[in-house]
Amino acid sequence: MHPLLNAAALAELAQAAEDRARGVACDCTKTALDGWQSQPLSLDEAALVQVGTLMSPDDHEPTYAEYPPGNSQYWSAEAPIAPRYFPYNRCDVWECSKCGRLYLRYTEGGGYFVDRRIRALKARLVEDAALE
Ligand SMILES: [Zn+2]
Repeated sequence: MHPLLNAAALAELAQAAEDRARGVACDCTKTALDGWQSQPLSLDEAALVQVGTLMSPDDHEPTYAEYPPGNSQYWSAEAPIAPRYFPYNRCDVWECSKCGRLYLRYTEGGGYFVDRRIRALKARLVEDAALE
């Protein structure tokens, strides 16, 4: 079981990782992942190790509402990372074992359409937004 992270724990983890990886060159930054992207082929998936999750084991139908409500910034590099909101409530937290950078990953869609998406985790974008 990977630890369930709330916003505070996530921000703390993110900040520590940023401090650690600052200035460290790594293959995982080849494709900019500041906003959500389909997982790029340039990414060495074998280097990613799961370190936590934002998916609550008690919530079997996490909301599809995005934060902030009614103002979707899904693809934006500046979109807030609010763990209780979509798509963050479906994400696991992964660490690049080469440089220590952290990434969020989840699978978009279902059935015949499945897209693995990835976004770099940034401490300053984490927001502890309560569900409405
Ligand atoms: Zn890396």
